[in-house]
Amino acid sequence: MKKYIIILCTLMILTGCVVTNTTTLREQGFKTQLQAFDSIPSSPGLFKSVEIQVRIIVVEDVGYVHDIQPGSDAIYMHPHRIIVIPGKRGRNGEIILSEALIGHEILHALQLQVGGFMNPDEFGYWGY
Ligand SMILES: [Zn+2]
Repeated sequence: MKKYIIILCTLMILTGCVVTNTTTLREQGFKTQLQAFDSIPSSPGLFKSVEIQVRIIVVEDVGYVHDIQPGSDAIYMHPHRIIVIPGKRGRNGEIILSEALIGHEILHALQLQVGGFMNPDEFGYWGY
């Protein structure tokens, strides 16, 4: 019986049918972020189209980021338009990035390249 459970678990992992703790945490975090965003009053008529340029440097460890800016988990460097962010390899070798980190750094790129976008480091200060 134990052998079949191991085989079943292996098949589920190989086919991507397993909801891991990582998935649960990521989905909860994403949902929480959206709930926070949805709690901000809407802005009728808002429409803005912008284009930004960024070079994204994916590094194996957050230590590389700490060497550039101690205490940061990722960094957007302006005016160089470079994001340095830790990444990890997925099951098929594809790169996985933290949605929270890449989103945060893109917000900095919007703020600093375009203007008119709130500094994400100040969201808490303004109650967002
Ligand atoms: Zn920031």
